[in-house]
Amino acid sequence: MSLRPDDAGPERLVVGAGISGLYAALLLARAGRRVRLLERAARAGGLAGAETFRGLPCDLGSHRLHPAALDQPLFREVHARSPFLSRPRRGVLVLGGRHVPYPPSAPSMLRALGLRAGAAMGLGFVAQRGRRAAFARWEHDRALADEDVGFERFVRDRVGAAAYASFYRPYAEKVWGIPPSELSQTVAKKRISTTSPLALFKGLTRGRGGASADLARFIYPPAGISSLITYLEARLAEAGVEAECGTALGLAGAGACAGAAPILFAGDLADLVPDAPLEHRGLYLVYLAYPRARLGAPETYYCPDPRFWFGRVSELQNYAPDLRRPGETVLCVEIPEGAWGSGRDFASGAPLEALLDQLVRAGIAPRGVAPLEARQRFVPRVYPLYRRGWLRDWRAAMRRAAALGVVPFGRQALFLHCNLDHCAAIAADAVAHVEAGRSPEAWALNAERYLDVRVRD
Ligand SMILES: Cc1cc2nc3c(=O)[nH]c(=O)nc-3n(C[C@H](O)[C@H](O)[C@H](O)COP(=O)(O)OP(=O)(O)OC[C@H]3O[C@@H](n4cnc5c(N)ncnc54)[C@H](O)[C@@H]3O)c2cc1C
Repeated sequence: MSLRPDDAGPERLVVGAGISGLYAALLLARAGRRVRLLERAARAGGLAGAETFRGLPCDLGSHRLHPAALDQPLFREVHARSPFLSRPRRGVLVLGGRHVPYPPSAPSMLRALGLRAGAAMGLGFVAQRGRRAAFARWEHDRALADEDVGFERFVRDRVGAAAYASFYRPYAEKVWGIPPSELSQTVAKKRISTTSPLALFKGLTRGRGGASADLARFIYPPAGISSLITYLEARLAEAGVEAECGTALGLAGAGACAGAAPILFAGDLADLVPDAPLEHRGLYLVYLAYPRARLGAPETYYCPDPRFWFGRVSELQNYAPDLRRPGETVLCVEIPEGAWGSGRDFASGAPLEALLDQLVRAGIAPRGVAPLEARQRFVPRVYPLYRRGWLRDWRAAMRRAAALGVVPFGRQALFLHCNLDHCAAIAADAVAHVEAGRSPEAWALNAERYLDVRVRD
C-alpha cells in the first residue's frame, strides 16, 4: 500500500493490531487524536488472538498473566470491568519420565534427576562460584552487553557443565534448531529465570526450598487471553477507531509518509528493514480434543526432554472454567519450529500417531484414548532468534527505521521476547514519546533499554 503525506494529516498512523498497536491506538484516541490503525492479518489480535476450536477460543499456546500485570493501567482497567481469575499454578515439569511440580522445589528436582545427576549438577554449580559473580555483574552492566560470549559459555560458566549438558543444551537445540554455540548469551539472559536450576541450587545453598513465591499464582481473563483483544477493540470502536484489516505497511508505504508525523509501528520489523539479519522461529500448535471431562489437574506441562517434540503442553479448561465443553477437554501442544522448518503436518497420519504416543509416554494423555479431533496451526515469528552479535544488527535496523520516521514498538518491531504487560508498558511509552514531539531517532536510542526485559513463563 502507499500513503501520501497529506493522507496522514494530523492523525496518527498506528501499524499492527496486536495488543501493542491496539493499546497505543486507544491511548491516542483517548488523548483526542484521530487514529488510523492498519493490520496485515484478516483480524486483530496477533499472538494474543485465539484459534476457535470446537467452539472454544483457544489461546495461541499457553498464556497467563503474571500478577505484576496489574501494575499496568490497561490490566487494572480490564480487571475493574471484568475481574481476572486468580489461579494457583499447577504446572508440571516433565523430567526423565517423572512429573515435578512447577515451580519446582529443590528436593523434588533432586528426586526426579536422581542422586547422581543431582549431585553432579550441584557440584558443577558450586565449582563455578567465582565466575558466576563476574557474569552476574556482566548481566546488569549494559555497557558490556556487546561482548557476546554466546549461550553455551554463558550458561556453562554459570551453572556448570553437568546442568548445561543435561538441561540447557538439549532444550536450546530443540527450540532453536541451531548449535547452542551460535546462540547469543541473550537467550540465556532471557530464559534463566527464578525457576531455573540455577535458582533452585541457589535456593538450596541459601536454605530455601525452591523458586520464588510470586510464581505460585497467576491471573487469567475468564474468557481467555483473546478477551483482552476483544476489550480493546470494543473501547476503540466506542472512540470511532477500527482496525483496517488486510492492510500491511511496508518499506514503500513508510517511505511515502516521510516528513509526516512519526508512524507508530508494532508490526514486523522485517517489513521495514527487509535485509536486516534478524530472524525469528515459529511455533506449531496442535489442538487435540479428548473425549474426557478432564485429563489432569495441571494447566501446563513443561517438557525440555529432547525425546519429545513438544516443549510445552497445556490443558485449556484448567485456566478458566468457562473454557470447557461438557464431556471433552482440549490440549494445546506446542512444538517449536526448531530444525523442522515451517512446512510440517503434525496433526494427521504417522506424525500424529507419534505425537500421541509421546504424550502418553510423557504421562500427559491416557493410553488407548483417541482424540475426537486434531487441528494444527503454525504461528510464524514467535521467538526472536538471538544469534551471537545480533545487537549490532538490531542497532542498525533501529537507525534505519528511525530514518523512515518510524517509532518501532511491541514485540515484533523491537525484536523482543516479552510478556503482554511489557507490551502494554512499551506502547504507553511510545505514545508518550510521540505525543511529546520527540523524534524517532531519540526513540531508537531509548528503545535499547527494553532489551533487558525478562520474560516470565
Ligand atoms: C506461545 C506463546 C505464549 C505466550 N505466553 C505468554 C504469557 O504466558 N504471558 C504473557 O504475558 N505473554 C505471553 N506471550 C507473549 C504475548 O502473547 C506477546 O508478547 C504479545 O501478544 C505481543 O503483542 P504485540 O502486539 O507486540 O505483537 P503481535 O501480537 O505479534 O502483533 C503484531 C501485529 O502486527 C501485525 N503486523 C505485522 N506486520 C505488519 C505490517 N507490516 N503491517 C500491518 N500489520 C502488521 C501482525 O499481523 C500482528 O497482528 C506468549 C506468546 C506466545 C506466542
